[in-house]
Amino acid sequence: MTHRIDAVLQHRLCAGCGACAYIAGDHGVTMTDVPGVGKRPVGVAALPLFVKDQIADVCPGSEVRAPSWDGHEPDRDEVVTGPTKAIWEGWASDDEIRWAGSSGGVVTALATYALEHLGMALVVHTGMDPDEPWRNKTIISHDRQGLITHSSSRYTTSSPVEALRLVEESDRPCVFIGKPCDVAAVARLRRTRPRLDRNLGLVLSFFCAGTPASDGSLALSRELGVPRPTRLRYRGRGWPGDFRTTDGEREATISYDESWGRLAQKPRQLRCQLCPDGLGELADVTGGDAWHRRQEGTDGISLILARTDRGKQIVEAAIRDGYLEATDSDARRVVAAQGLVQRRRVVGTRLLALRTLFLPTTRFPGFRLRAAAAQVGIRRHIKEFAGTIRRTLRHGRT
Ligand SMILES: Cc1cc2nc3c(=O)[nH]c(=O)nc-3n(C[C@H](O)[C@H](O)[C@H](O)COP(=O)(O)OP(=O)(O)OC[C@H]3O[C@@H](n4cnc5c(N)ncnc54)[C@H](O)[C@@H]3O)c2cc1C
Repeated sequence: MTHRIDAVLQHRLCAGCGACAYIAGDHGVTMTDVPGVGKRPVGVAALPLFVKDQIADVCPGSEVRAPSWDGHEPDRDEVVTGPTKAIWEGWASDDEIRWAGSSGGVVTALATYALEHLGMALVVHTGMDPDEPWRNKTIISHDRQGLITHSSSRYTTSSPVEALRLVEESDRPCVFIGKPCDVAAVARLRRTRPRLDRNLGLVLSFFCAGTPASDGSLALSRELGVPRPTRLRYRGRGWPGDFRTTDGEREATISYDESWGRLAQKPRQLRCQLCPDGLGELADVTGGDAWHRRQEGTDGISLILARTDRGKQIVEAAIRDGYLEATDSDARRVVAAQGLVQRRRVVGTRLLALRTLFLPTTRFPGFRLRAAAAQVGIRRHIKEFAGTIRRTLRHGRT
């Protein structure tokens, strides 16, 4: 029988988070960026069974379990935003961070606060690969400047979980920043690793519509007349910022809307299309664009969702200590801001279509996919079901 982790890789359910490399680094597993696909582990197939079992237990391509509602019965909006302890809208008080960040610079401001005020040792996050700037690289930052340099969203695959050993071996708590699937892996890993659990002082995430493969970014740069960029930025420097690519001689920019529109047309990982966790439910705090306030200017405004008591306390302390400016918000405004919640309403149907073809899928227990699905009409579900079946059969694989 095919091992669950081999099935994840064979059937394109891998999100490329890097958990395999963290767990099986001693067995030679590394992450590589596969053109047209994304970050993928190398060396998993040959691993001993007990190591594969360890990976399968935490792999977000295999399963992501939603956090508990603790007895609360969610309303219509909360069903698609997931459980929260508090919601705000705001931005980094530091103008440089707000300007550099993707939306309001909140993720960078909170990480800076954790380093400067909470005594945390380092931040695991993601930035541009200097050798191939259309790809991502896992970055370790120790100060505000490092965080600013690698702030802002990079719309391609990343594998920050690969660096968790640094957190585990640190003498002080650390910050982890990653996509929702990355923090889902982190949440599973910390359950059985007490030292890692103790050292994960703050886990931050952001809303995520999915990661296009890195050659999509290179192709876009090429289309803009920069075939071999030496720097490539997707956003930041104002809100929503622009896509900027340069080789030192030529520089080209296009607006965020145009670039995201073109990148989103490039193939995105199947795992992303099946993901109900676009708003990062397993982080302490998650941030997204407050698109409903876009007309208010170009300085950047974020939605800020505290998912845990620890996250709520840290956001409140960061507001009190002058790192964040924020006002109260709620799930209704998050839904108004985010077209992304629409995916949560249809992924149950996409998963059903794959199962109808006897294909393996990621399991998402606790995400209330039926309640979310009930928010759209039957026609939409029929379209999603037929579209998933058609695409799967046409490509000859999932
Ligand atoms: C692939 C992708 C899809 C997104 N889709 C949406 C969406 O549909 N709706 C929405 O509102 N927001 C989306 N975002 C998030 C949004 O762009 C902002 O990241 C979010 O609003 C937080 O902004 P900020 O200014 O607080 O973050 P910043 O202060 O700019 O910090 C961003 C942090 O994220 C890290 N990071 C950047 N790119 C990646 C990556 N690829 N993988 C892991 N870590 C990374 C950086 O290292 C940095 O620490 C997406 C982001 C990404 C990377």
